[in-house]
Amino acid sequence: MAIFPVRKFGDPVLKEKAQPVEKIDNGVRELARNLIDTMNGADGVGLAAPQIGVLKRLIVFNARDSKKPRVLINPEIISISEEEIEDEEACLSVPAAEVKIKRAKTVTIKGLNLEGNKVTYKASELLARILQHELNHLDGQLILDKTSEKDRKKALKEISLGITKPEGGTSPL
Ligand code: ZN
Repeated sequence: MAIFPVRKFGDPVLKEKAQPVEKIDNGVRELARNLIDTMNGADGVGLAAPQIGVLKRLIVFNARDSKKPRVLINPEIISISEEEIEDEEACLSVPAAEVKIKRAKTVTIKGLNLEGNKVTYKASELLARILQHELNHLDGQLILDKTSEKDRKKALKEISLGITKPEGGTSPL
C-alpha cells in the first residue's frame, strides 16, 4: 500500500496539463497502484495522476458494476451527449467545496488499460460525471473552473475562511 498526499487547491501542479503516457512500464504500473491505494484510502471514487503530483494522462476510478478499480491511460472523449445533468460535485483536491456542475449525461471514452489494450467506456450518469471530472484534472481544470460564478465565489470564500464541508457528503473525485 502506498497512499500519497493528495495535492490541494492552490498547488500549481493542479493547473498544469498532463502529458501522454508513452510506454506502459513498471513506473506506470506503480503509478496506477499508488493512485488506486490513494483513492481507496481517501474513500474517493476517482483520482487522476496530477492529484498526486504526477503530470501523466492516467486516471483511476471505481465503476459501480465492478469491485475492481479501473485504470485508464491516455483517455480521450470520442462522443459526448448534448443532454446535461446538474449535480453536486466534490473533489479530493478541493476539500472545502461541494459545488453544482452541469455535465453531459453520457460520454464515450477510449484509452488503454494497464495491459496496453484499447478499451472503451460508454458511461452515463455518475460514471459519466466521474470520467469528465478526471479528464478535467488532466487538463489542469478543477471543479471551481466548471461551476457557476456564484458557486465559485461562495466556495472560494469558504476556502479562505477555512470552512470545511460536513462529513458524509458527495463522494469526492
Ligand atoms: Zn477532483
